[in-house]
Amino acid sequence: MSILKQIKALEKKRAAALSKILSTSLVAPGSYGRVYCRCGKPNCWCSSGKGHPYSRIVFSEGGRSKTKSISEDNVGWIKKVTKNYRDFKEGVKKIKEYDSILFELLGKYLKEIIMQTRDKKEYN
Ligand SMILES: [Zn+2]
Repeated sequence: MSILKQIKALEKKRAAALSKILSTSLVAPGSYGRVYCRCGKPNCWCSSGKGHPYSRIVFSEGGRSKTKSISEDNVGWIKKVTKNYRDFKEGVKKIKEYDSILFELLGKYLKEIIMQTRDKKEYN
């Protein structure tokens, strides 16, 4: 494939990756998890088991790790928006990779067209 064709193919992939991440507007950082916690009441059933289950997300904000508990109603939603967040970050990473390939190809392309121009008329 010619360099120009490679550049154009890459631009298509890049545009697709960009429009994919821009189509997402519901995002939340954090990883979802289900944990168990004993409430501490001596008569509660949980005192002999692993505890009451609850759902939470852990995320970092301003360099600190934070935890937010998630109500059962919101579990499906939080799973979706945290996945969207991961996909967004993944998309940004992809675009960066495409860009570094693109810069490399542009350098090669420039060399190629310099040579082609030189071939048209002998100027040196
Ligand atoms: Zn309990």
